[in-house]
Amino acid sequence: MWVWKSDCNNSFNVAAVRDQVIKRSICVEDKWLFWNCWVPSKVNLFVWRSVLNRIPVKEELIKRGVCIQNPLCLICEDQAESVEHLVCKCTLSKFIWWNILDWVKLPVDVEFGSCKEALEFIEGRKGSKVWKKVINLIFQSSMWHIWKARNEKEFNGVLLSGNVVVEDIKADAYLWLKSRSKFDKLDWGR
Ligand SMILES: [Zn+2]
Repeated sequence: MWVWKSDCNNSFNVAAVRDQVIKRSICVEDKWLFWNCWVPSKVNLFVWRSVLNRIPVKEELIKRGVCIQNPLCLICEDQAESVEHLVCKCTLSKFIWWNILDWVKLPVDVEFGSCKEALEFIEGRKGSKVWKKVINLIFQSSMWHIWKARNEKEFNGVLLSGNVVVEDIKADAYLWLKSRSKFDKLDWGR
């Protein structure tokens, strides 16, 4: 019998091949250790690029010579918009991390200095591989939705409440886990 071993479910599809190509190219170039096959490629890529400061926040755009009138984060309007500020230190992101850490029963007094620190925090904790993979998925969903909330404010002028973003994080984490992992029997209530 032919089996496609690179996919979590052993089933072949073009998306799985694309995932593998992206994963291999990232792992070879930068020894990226946090790739999670339960998380969509675009989100894995976004998180990887965030760790390398390669997402288009204002601080990075200014470094690359783009003319930006207002370098401040549009969410808090208090600090320069760097990757670390946006994802970890902004008032909105702090609120989100507090709620997510509380939800997954991790200490809520932890403050992450960077995206990499958040990912390494999971790896350094006691727990099974599966638990770490689930928490990694939830953290990646958190970073992704903080970025989406930022873009909503930047491009549509809409400031989402922290509670709305937290619910979106949980919803996506549930959908990814249900559709991409072995936990396909998972139900929303549980
Ligand atoms: Zn801010």
